[in-house]
Amino acid sequence: MSAQNITPVGFEKHDHRACVSQALAAADARCAAEGLRLTPVRRKVLELLLQEHRALGAYAILDLLRDAGFGSQPPVAYRALDFLVEHGFVHKIERLNAFVACTHPGESHTPAFMICRLCDAVAEAQSAAAKGGLGAAARAAGFQIEKTVVEAEGICPACVDKANV
Ligand SMILES: [Zn+2]
Ligand SMILES: [Zn+2]
Ligand SMILES: [Zn+2]
Repeated sequence: MSAQNITPVGFEKHDHRACVSQALAAADARCAAEGLRLTPVRRKVLELLLQEHRALGAYAILDLLRDAGFGSQPPVAYRALDFLVEHGFVHKIERLNAFVACTHPGESHTPAFMICRLCDAVAEAQSAAAKGGLGAAARAAGFQIEKTVVEAEGICPACVDKANV
């Protein structure tokens, strides 16, 4: 694995074909090791989300599934997404009500997302909210943080370049 594959993936130039095949191979290996069933439709949904470092809504995923020959009903896509989110292969972007493939599968992590408001590209970075100002405030208040959602909205490097041309 090259240094290019280190965080944050998505906005940086990288070998995307390898990025998709490595992620699918890692998912296959993890499911085999943990006895999870990566059914053809679950694997296809993951593959579709890996194709672009972009968030896709459930209906867009359903359309792509249909195009790929899975004549799916919505519950099929939703159940596949539930499985992928539950096991950390995919994250839900609350801000967009959409889904994005995890770029650090297998590692326990709290994702933080950078979302381009012009093209909906999403990059994932690690969040350490519990160690930052919020963590300090929570400790002072005797509050135990279980989950944080970090979603930053802005303009990605590709869109900044386009805007400057
Ligand atoms: Zn990629
Ligand atoms: Zn992740
Ligand atoms: Zn953009």
